[in-house]
Amino acid sequence: MSIFEKIIQKEIPANIVFEDDLCLAFTDISPKAPVHILIIPKTPIPTAADLKPEHASLMGHLMIKATEIAKEQGLAEHGYRLVINCKDHGGQEVYHLHIHLLGGKKLYGLPV
Ligand code: 5GP
Repeated sequence: MSIFEKIIQKEIPANIVFEDDLCLAFTDISPKAPVHILIIPKTPIPTAADLKPEHASLMGHLMIKATEIAKEQGLAEHGYRLVINCKDHGGQEVYHLHIHLLGGKKLYGLPV
């Protein structure tokens, strides 16, 4: 079981900013920007490379929630970055698909 599944199960604590039946959003333990939130599906899809057509609705839901959270966090006016790292070359460390929401300052390069 990945660390994110343990967060979903509430076996380890996290600063949860949003939760519904399909997804969970919580602040990154090692933030790379003033706002750094992870949006994850509750179903354990390991990587973006594992996405299938039946995940289209779920992924759309995650993207919409990411933008709603960005607005709630005050990021909508100046903008923000949404990132999905995929496997080793993409820099993925936790093999439970997640969207990074980063903002609160001008971002240069690749923060995550
Ligand atoms: P990845 O490199 O897989 O795209 O991103 C994984 C992210 O998860 C990293 O930014 C890392 O700081 C964060 N992370 C790893 N373990 C934990 C944890 O136990 N709690 C929280 N809140 N974030 C974590």
